[in-house]
Amino acid sequence: MIGILVAVAIVIVLAIVFTVGSGALAGKSEPARPDGKGTTVVGKALYRAKDEVCRSDLQELRLSIETKTDPVDNTHPQSLKDTGLGADFYKCPVGGEPYEYDPTTGKVHCVHPGHEKY
Ligand SMILES: [Zn+2]
Repeated sequence: MIGILVAVAIVIVLAIVFTVGSGALAGKSEPARPDGKGTTVVGKALYRAKDEVCRSDLQELRLSIETKTDPVDNTHPQSLKDTGLGADFYKCPVGGEPYEYDPTTGKVHCVHPGHEKY
């Protein structure tokens, strides 16, 4: 009987920690994300991983733009599609916003809140 009670108590505590998110129970609290996504502990970890995907996609895009840039005329690819990386690389994996690309400068960046510096 006591064993069952202890097990139920552990399950309740775990459920609270995972649904309420990192608050008083989890110890340290993280600042809320600028886009307001991922309010639970699991959600935060998930979106942190997606942030990294966005960052690495942009790195790959920049590398590809550099490769496709004409070294003589210094002309950049006309659109992100010209990099030939695939549709998944042209938008943010978190918010789904298309990346902003300037063919005159060859610069690409993410418009998703919190991703401006990627
Ligand atoms: Zn992004």
